[in-house]
Amino acid sequence: MTDSPQPAQSPQPTAVTLYVGGTGRSGSTLLAGALGGAPGAVDVGEVRFLWERGLMEQRLCGCGQPVPQCPFWTEVLNRAFGTERPDSARLHAALTRATRLRRLPSWLARRPPPVALARTLRSLYAAIAEVAGADVVIDSSKLPTYAALLAALGRPEVRLVHVVRDPRASAFSWASAKAAPDAREGLMEQRGVVKSALLWLVWNLALEALWRGRGRYLRVRYEDLAAAPADVLAAVAAHAGLPAKPPLATGQRLTLPPNHTVAGNPSRLRPGPTWVRRDDRWLTGLAPKQRRLVTALTAPALRRYGYPVRWGGR
Ligand SMILES: [Zn+2]
Repeated sequence: MTDSPQPAQSPQPTAVTLYVGGTGRSGSTLLAGALGGAPGAVDVGEVRFLWERGLMEQRLCGCGQPVPQCPFWTEVLNRAFGTERPDSARLHAALTRATRLRRLPSWLARRPPPVALARTLRSLYAAIAEVAGADVVIDSSKLPTYAALLAALGRPEVRLVHVVRDPRASAFSWASAKAAPDAREGLMEQRGVVKSALLWLVWNLALEALWRGRGRYLRVRYEDLAAAPADVLAAVAAHAGLPAKPPLATGQRLTLPPNHTVAGNPSRLRPGPTWVRRDDRWLTGLAPKQRRLVTALTAPALRRYGYPVRWGGR
């Protein structure tokens, strides 16, 4: 990482970062992708992982090119840093140090981020807005601590959309094998139900605690997005300051635009018309013992997010 990156030239003065936070497998890729089709918006995926998965591991951008060869990201990096491009491994290590969960107390205490890291990220986000010509940059990095880091930069303004999903459905999804053409192993990361449940509890509550008093906040449930995509997308667009019209969904159908997203759910690699359907496979796929375990572990926050502690009496 360099201490003296060149400042981005004439950044979008009104650019806002819409940060999609939550625990993953919660519809965040779909939400970010659909919003990326709104005039003035650009969906760039999980920017937290640009350096590691994008540049070091050379995984695929949403456009289908490996990130180091993608013309969008090449221009962004050139504009942000010129010939002083940060070393990806060092920057990734700095981000890992800054965003690990054990740094929660430091973020809750509002300690400022490392100066060089802050300068680098400000230049990066300004360049993304500039190259895309966007007023709203959608970053679905999801991590609560990275949200706090971005908010602590001071600019651009960050608005949070907090996506939650029934933790039993998320646990089932995390435990299931899913193909990921952009991952080296060809599969998305899998998690056991205990880890998934504990992360659901900690991340969701941490995100709210870290965000308190920091900026605009909107909570969206996966189940509501699946039931009424147009309404939820309109609410999130308004929250981000985007025009609400034209509608971003018609009934259950929405269109995911071509994109330059880094990291995230492989559905980002398949732009075009998509039908939103609520995925309730967990109701039959998650064993009763596992369901009880996830329910017990997440009980402190289930009602807070409107989920029943008992489901259908089972
Ligand atoms: Zn690309």
